[in-house]
Parts: sequence; structure tokens; C-alpha cells
Amino acid sequence: MEPHILILGAPGAGKGTQSDNIVEEFGVEHVTTGDALRANKEMDISHLGLEYDTPGEYMDRGELVPDEVVNEIVDTALDEADGFVLDGYPRNLDQAETLSEMTDLDVVLYLDVDEEELVERLTGRRLDPETGDIYHVEFNMPDDEEVRQRLVQREDDTEETVRERIRVYQENTEPVIEFYEEEGDLIRIDGEQTPDEVWDDVKSAIEENA
Ligand code: ADP
Ligand code: ADP
Repeated sequence: MEPHILILGAPGAGKGTQSDNIVEEFGVEHVTTGDALRANKEMDISHLGLEYDTPGEYMDRGELVPDEVVNEIVDTALDEADGFVLDGYPRNLDQAETLSEMTDLDVVLYLDVDEEELVERLTGRRLDPETGDIYHVEFNMPDDEEVRQRLVQREDDTEETVRERIRVYQENTEPVIEFYEEEGDLIRIDGEQTPDEVWDDVKSAIEENA
């Protein structure tokens, strides 16, 4: 059976970057609620009677999309995946409880990065719309001029929304880190190293535990 991997960390900690490496090395599925929600930003959720009628309205404010929307996406995606690296979920304790009812985890990784570094990483993040590859204006730009020209910035990677997302993370998601720490499953990785150094640690942690 392919490994069930959970990767935790603040917005900008490097979860997407390392998940891409994990997919390539271990052949698992990348299950990411952020990408799934971005592909469904305009989905009509008005029948749920919540504060806003689409996921996008929560996302552009840096707020969490309500659990009933997100849980459903994860449940379906995990059902369809053999092995996976789950990225962006759970983001609060209720989601963590729901996840424990959905599946077992072999490895729980936590990328530890300081807040000021997160702001720099997120405001400088750029994406290749054709491949989904993740870049950074200072830390990691593509060599190919054509790729450089087509890079885009995510709508929620502005300084104001970034600060709000980090606040939401501290309030809702830090307790999730403690939850896995208390269960004794959490593998803490220094996320402030270079991407290659972080990858060395991530890869060894998976090899030792999965
Ligand atoms: P980042 O990689 O910068 O942490 P994501 O792409 O994971 O950001 O998430 C972008 C936005 O999507 C979040 O700010 C939030 O609005 C929404 N979102 C993603 N995952 C979840 C989740 N598990 N629960 C609620 N909202 C989520
Ligand atoms: P997350 O999915 O946790 O929000 P990303 O993987 O999208 O994080 O990374 C956020 C930004 O930081 C991107 O621009 C990425 O290129 C950059 N980045 C990722 N890992 C590192 C690292 N170890 N050192 C410096 N920059 C990094």
C-alpha cells in the first residue's frame, strides 16, 4: 500500500513545494484543498445558508471556507487516492477529528517557519499557470524566459490578505499541530532551510516512517 502522508505548516511554509517532491519520489496523489477550492471558487453553496454563497468570497478575505464544503472535497479525494500527501487540511480541530474518521495516517510532517519569513515568501510567490509549478521572485525563479514571462500571482497573496491568513492560521490551525504533537505522531522539520535541505529531511522522515 502506498503511504498516507500529512504535511502541516503555516501558509507559505513550503507545503506545496515539498508535496510536489513527494509526489515525484513516492508516486502518491497530491490532495490539496487550496487547489481544489480555487478550481471551484465560484461554486454555488447558497443552499447551505452560510455567510457567503461561494468559496471564493471566503478565500479572498483570507478566511476559512466552512467545514461542510471542505470535508466533502477531502472525503471524495481520499477515497479515490491509493497513497496521498494531504496538504492544506485539516485547518481546525473539527477537521482533524473528521480526518481521523476518514483514514489512517502513516506520517505527519510539520514544516516550521517563522512568521516574518512567511510574509516574504507569500508576497513573493509566483505560479506557472500552465504547469502549476511554484516559484519565488527572489528565492526561486525559472531559468526559461518564456516561463518567467507567464508567471502569475495568486489573488490572496497580497500583504493584507497574507497577514489575515497567518492570523487565521494561528487561531485555528496551531491547535491542530498540538493535537498531532500530543498523539506523538508529529515530525517537526526546520522549514527555514533551503528547499533542497528541507527536502532531504522530508524524504528521510517518510522513508523512516512509512
Ligand atoms: P496556502 O498554501 O497559502 O496555505 P491554500 O492554498 O492552502 O493556502 O488555501 C487558500 C485558501 O483556501 C485558504 O485561505 C482558505 O480560504 C481556503 N482553504 C484551503 N484549505 C482549507 C481548509 N482545509 N479549510 C478551510 N478553508 C480552506
Ligand atoms: P505553502 O504551500 O505552504 O503555502 P509554498 O510551497 O507555496 O508554501 O511556498 C511558498 C513560497 O515560498 C513559494 O514562493 C516558494 O517558492 C517559496 N519557498 C518554498 N520553500 C522555500 C524555502 N525552503 N526557502 C525559501 N523559499 C521557499
